[in-house]
Amino acid sequence: MLVNAYELGRQPFALAQPAAWLERAGFAVSCLDLSLQKLDAEVLREAGLVAIYVGMHTATRIAVEALPRVRQLAPNAHLCVYGLYAPMNATLLRTLGVETVLGGEVEPALVDLARRLRSGDSPGGQREPIVSLERIAFEVPDRTALPKLVRYAHLVLTDGSTRVAGFAEGSRGCKHLCRHCPIVPVYQGKFRVVPVETVLADIRQQVAEGAAHISFGDPDFLNGPRHGLRLARALHDAFPGVTFDATIKIQHLIEHRDLLTELRASGCLFVTSAVEAVDDEILRLLGKNHGSRDFDRAVALTRAAGIALAPTFVAFTPWTTLEGYIALLERLVALRLVESVPPVQLAIRLLVPEGSWLLRLPGFRASLQAFDPALLGYPWIHRDPRVDRLQQRVQARIVECEREGLPRRAAFAAIWRMAHEAAARPAPELPDDVGAPIPHLSEPWYCCAEPTAQQLESF
Ligand code: SF4
Repeated sequence: MLVNAYELGRQPFALAQPAAWLERAGFAVSCLDLSLQKLDAEVLREAGLVAIYVGMHTATRIAVEALPRVRQLAPNAHLCVYGLYAPMNATLLRTLGVETVLGGEVEPALVDLARRLRSGDSPGGQREPIVSLERIAFEVPDRTALPKLVRYAHLVLTDGSTRVAGFAEGSRGCKHLCRHCPIVPVYQGKFRVVPVETVLADIRQQVAEGAAHISFGDPDFLNGPRHGLRLARALHDAFPGVTFDATIKIQHLIEHRDLLTELRASGCLFVTSAVEAVDDEILRLLGKNHGSRDFDRAVALTRAAGIALAPTFVAFTPWTTLEGYIALLERLVALRLVESVPPVQLAIRLLVPEGSWLLRLPGFRASLQAFDPALLGYPWIHRDPRVDRLQQRVQARIVECEREGLPRRAAFAAIWRMAHEAAARPAPELPDDVGAPIPHLSEPWYCCAEPTAQQLESF
């Protein structure tokens, strides 16, 4: 049984790819998505192997909560946790009864493990490499055992209408080494591409399920610019009416600006980009390879190409000042991006998991508290208590805004007032034109957040 803890409302490629490998090797595979389904006691009782996917921090927190119940319902199953966050949390996971931990290109190891279990050869501890970056022959993902696409996040257009969204991946890993990124400890600057024909076959099966938009989950769609362009062309040639979105870093938007017009012509509606900060020193510490003003250039380039930019941020870091936080809000106003940023982005606090390359920054580890297994990271306290207080107030206000169904603009105005209040500065009135809404997915992208009570209800 393959279990998805949480994947931001996306139908998980990371279950569908191993499902295809295991099916081909002759195993009966069931998939369970905890974001939409409850633990199935009957299937778990029969399972010989339960492998839980943790591709992000929130998913790992959910998996940690679910593991005792899984162990109880599947007393005879071998427990495996795989995905980016598995290797860095291996020690903790083993205390919860997890026997095998896998990261990177996990499919061959999952098949080997399943074969040994089937042959009655007890693994007797982990035998597969915890991280493998071996090049694999990607299969067409098997999505048949997953909940239907219509149950997942959908595309919301600027007129409020929605479209069924499909989720594809054209690559895994990343060639960059941003210090705060969870991909780096596992992939260490490498990425692996999925052949265009395989991605297209996956898209084809999702279009047949009703997808009118494809959200590419590649960590960076232009890590291999020619591959990205070939994917966009192939998608557009096969399905001219199907739109798409992708994640592309600021540096790539600038370096490959000549590709943007063709991406738009191929159906690219919006690009998510990890801007992270508007402070040059913070960007340097994070190793982002772009400067503050590159953000403005990327906005201008994407706008000129007709592509909306959805920036994401690590809004609160140990180096963020109140003035710096206000400067971030001011930049969003000046660039007319207020409607382009889901409010949750303005509350994100830097997470330092085990294995993070941030720990390599001279003196940084000494500034952190001891590893907290509940947080799955090293907590830090800001030297200016007003910054931590503001982060907590912003986070709480965002939850209220979501509960009240307030639009992004109203949530931003509340954060704007709170930030100025924290700095004991009068909050200037916001201009009327702070930017127009952009197309987006109904569940926003973020890297880490507290699991909600609802997310913990399924087990
Ligand atoms: S933050 Fe983006 S560009 Fe940097 S390593 Fe991670 S995926 Fe790559």
